[in-house]
Amino acid sequence: MELRDLSDHSEYVPGRGKKEVAREVGLDPSELIALSSNENPHGPSPAAAEAVRDSAEVVHHYPKASHADLIDAVAAEWDLTAEQIWLSPGADGAIDLLSRAVLDPGDEILIPEPGFSYYGMSGRYHHAEMNGYEVSKADEFAQHPETVLAAYSGERIVFVTAPHNPSGTVMSLTDIETVADATADSTVIAVDEAYGEYADMPSARRLLDDRDDIAVLRTMSKAYGLAGLRVGYAMVPEEWADGYAKVNTPFAVNEVGCRAAMAALEDKDHVNQTVETARWAREYFREHIAAPTFPSSGNFILVDVGDATRVAKAARDRGVVLRDCTSFGLPGCLRISCGTREETRQATETLNQVLADLQLGVHAWPID
Ligand SMILES: *Cc1c(COP(=O)(O)O)cnc(C)c1O
Repeated sequence: MELRDLSDHSEYVPGRGKKEVAREVGLDPSELIALSSNENPHGPSPAAAEAVRDSAEVVHHYPKASHADLIDAVAAEWDLTAEQIWLSPGADGAIDLLSRAVLDPGDEILIPEPGFSYYGMSGRYHHAEMNGYEVSKADEFAQHPETVLAAYSGERIVFVTAPHNPSGTVMSLTDIETVADATADSTVIAVDEAYGEYADMPSARRLLDDRDDIAVLRTMSKAYGLAGLRVGYAMVPEEWADGYAKVNTPFAVNEVGCRAAMAALEDKDHVNQTVETARWAREYFREHIAAPTFPSSGNFILVDVGDATRVAKAARDRGVVLRDCTSFGLPGCLRISCGTREETRQATETLNQVLADLQLGVHAWPID
């Protein structure tokens, strides 16, 4: 028996974690600074950690009540009906739900290039074809509705990432509406707001009041610090009310994740502190990294170092794990996540030393 032909499919390439890199370079994980996966450097909310501990004794039950309760809590948070919240294992799971609910075999999707690779992976194994629109480095990764529309040819799903991974740029709500207005009734604009909390712009949630062709993706993995639990959701048009039950895995999110997410949603101080640190850090990076950087509204920044693989390797050998963006199609660029203030300063110093030693970067910053 053979699998279907997957030769055309690609694998997701995650940022490297502390433990695996520690093993590789022979250091203790505690000696490393990992700023490669846009995780929350403060960890989860203490209330969420407590909820995880408290759930241990009840995991023999299916998460019936907690799954419904979390949907209600998220719906209340956004002033939407429960039917408009499609809870999922991470925002990645929400991408799958959209693919399942929207795509027929042979349908097409339109995705940003460079961009988050899972859109295409999900589309592909749901038997769709994919097309790309450019988010151009030469234009500092600015996101223009004209570029999206120039590439558009009736795709069923158009993905917009705001803030965009890996660059951090956004598309304004006006521009998102321009795209939605100009595309067919059969097209949904999926606005991926995995980093929405860090941006200075309102969520595309507000477009759901008047439109039935927008879906908004959110996650508890980034600002809420629950990446290890896999909790995300899509906010969808009211008209899609009965779709979720038909495409969802029974209980998409587990008991522990549901309880932790409910606790995390209530801890606004933790999210606010997280966002404040990230905003400070991305400014710090922009001012102090001795190589060109791009404006970012996320909890990370993209750095143009010339040879990302070489620089990431040298930084890793000095205990700092960064994201080589070669797999995004940007072999010259590194993505660096916002750390705590101390991690941010230390990672900047290490990166600058590496750039100086390899004679890369612009050396605008005095290196001692
Ligand atoms: C991290 C990320 C996600 C999803 O992460 P989950 O952990 O699956 O919630 C989705 N989109 C983008 C652009 C991301 O960077």
